[in-house]
Amino acid sequence: MKNADCIFCKIVEGKIPSTKVFENDKVLAFKDLRPNASIHYLFIHKNHTKDVNDMSSIDPQQFVEIFAGIKAVTEKENLTEKGFRVVSNTGPNAGQTVFHTHFHVLAGEPLNGFGSR
Ligand code: 5GP
Ligand code: ZN
Repeated sequence: MKNADCIFCKIVEGKIPSTKVFENDKVLAFKDLRPNASIHYLFIHKNHTKDVNDMSSIDPQQFVEIFAGIKAVTEKENLTEKGFRVVSNTGPNAGQTVFHTHFHVLAGEPLNGFGSR
């Protein structure tokens, strides 16, 4: 299912360009336009849901498929030893701006700003 007004659905359909780092029949990962770390990828499912709870309600298998993609990329790019962070912003307090469920994968340098209180 695609949502006509959704920019990430348009990226899946190739109507908006992206720099892809992983793709299979279900999952797409691409570089974030405004990176917050030297490596900043966005992992999405090709079928639209709006956030993680929506994904849990509609098709929780999508989590398995996305995290298999995260595993494949982080292992291929040797990010597992030094580590990486996975984030999914949900709703206004978290600062969600795109309402197609996505997982930020941040890596490539020490990631500060979490766990400081
Ligand atoms: P959120 O703020 O919803 O957690 O994350 C949305 C992310 O999507 C932001 O980090 C933003 O930089 C990224 N983004 C928004 N529009 C585009 C786009 O058209 N292409 C790419 N590659 N990233 C985008
Ligand atoms: Zn979408």
